[in-house]
Amino acid sequence: MPYNPFENAQAQFDKVAELLELDQGTRDLLRVPMKEFHFTIPVKMDDGTTRVFQAFRIKHNDARGPAKGGIRFHPHETSDTVRALSMWMTWKCAVVDIPLGGGKGGVICDPHELSQGEQQRLCRGYIRQLFSQVGPTIDVPAPDVMTNGQHMLWMMDEYEALAGGRYPGMITGKPVGMGGSLGRTEATGYGVIYTLGDLLRAEGIDIKATTASIQGFGNVAEYAARLYSELGGRVVCVSCWCQADKKAYTFRKKDGCDIEALSQIKDSFGSIDKDRALSLGYEILPGDAWLSEDVDILIPAALENQITPAVFPNISQRVRVICEGANGPTTPDCDPLIRERGISLIPDFLCNAGGVTCSYFEQVQCNMNYFWSREEVLDKLNFTMAKAFRAVYELAKEKDLNMRDAAYVIAINRVADAVRLRGWV
Ligand code: NAD
Repeated sequence: MPYNPFENAQAQFDKVAELLELDQGTRDLLRVPMKEFHFTIPVKMDDGTTRVFQAFRIKHNDARGPAKGGIRFHPHETSDTVRALSMWMTWKCAVVDIPLGGGKGGVICDPHELSQGEQQRLCRGYIRQLFSQVGPTIDVPAPDVMTNGQHMLWMMDEYEALAGGRYPGMITGKPVGMGGSLGRTEATGYGVIYTLGDLLRAEGIDIKATTASIQGFGNVAEYAARLYSELGGRVVCVSCWCQADKKAYTFRKKDGCDIEALSQIKDSFGSIDKDRALSLGYEILPGDAWLSEDVDILIPAALENQITPAVFPNISQRVRVICEGANGPTTPDCDPLIRERGISLIPDFLCNAGGVTCSYFEQVQCNMNYFWSREEVLDKLNFTMAKAFRAVYELAKEKDLNMRDAAYVIAINRVADAVRLRGWV
């Protein structure tokens, strides 16, 4: 049976709701999204035909502030994936304590197969369908898998045309100079490494003496790889999807991947050119080889449901840390195995919260119409992530919990307080 991300998200929630002895009304409210929009977007294609795309926007909870979360373009997008992602956004914003709720969107499409004009019309169509349900005080989208700053800008432009004004805070992840924040592009990947650095310091491990294997080479993975390498760690493997072959590969260089060189030979969707990688001396291995590499740190930063009990035995005994750059890369039934082996896992909604934290900073800057320097943004990001990490790490130690459950305890308590204070339960 394939894993269902929404069932995974609910299983994680139910476990901690039980631990917290949460009242039934709050459980019933928080284990499902509050609002869902399922809609179609007709797009005029370049050849004159019309294609109709299925799309979603799901708001899990907005008790702590406007809903916030990315929009994915993916051929295998499902409503249950979007439900899970919207729920994880609620916990993510709560664990880093920013005044936002959780939402997520998706369109079933493969942008590899769409021209720039078709992508633009798809983005505009998404906003036309949702106009009354998004906005700076309602629900604020952002980029995610296979969407980028250009998509966000088209969406903002469509919103502003309909609203008749300038509303740069209606969407984040925009290009710098067009309401975007310096530091946003690298924020999620950097945030992953900020939390990793905090963990290694707490455990007395020198990052310079560590090696890592990474799944993905998109926005999150690339910037995580860059900062980790800059801090002295050695990335041995990265894996990514190869659209031409319709399969994934792992690119390995035992003495360390040159992240800058790899980024020069990847496309805008995070696919590395296989032939050019070969000519740079990379070994090309099967897509799942990244997981069994003999390294200290695994960074799944591509997809959900990658670390399961079925593949867990393939993980090297040397692995000490798993940093969940992706959302939902580990299935709930694997968490106990990871703990038994003594691996420290930094859970997704803490580990990859740098993106939404920086998106929040972007909104703040848009509201002020005054933009901070990159250093200022990254300092604030590091401070916020470090504070959240410390709270989770200390609670985990104090209550003998894994870090996922500790992060859930903090996040659920904050959201439960908000719904109670609002009188919703
Ligand atoms: P992206 O589209 O930029 O990159 C995705 C990467 O995954 C690409 O390199 C792609 O080739 C690779 N990939 C796809 N299928 C693969 C496979 N079978 N095996 C190996 N690699 C494969 O997406 P992203 O924005 O980097 O997001 C990655 C993950 O991080 C997702 O789970 C996303 O929800 C999560 N996330 C993203 C952000 C953000 O700010 N972008 C924030 C928080 C969480």
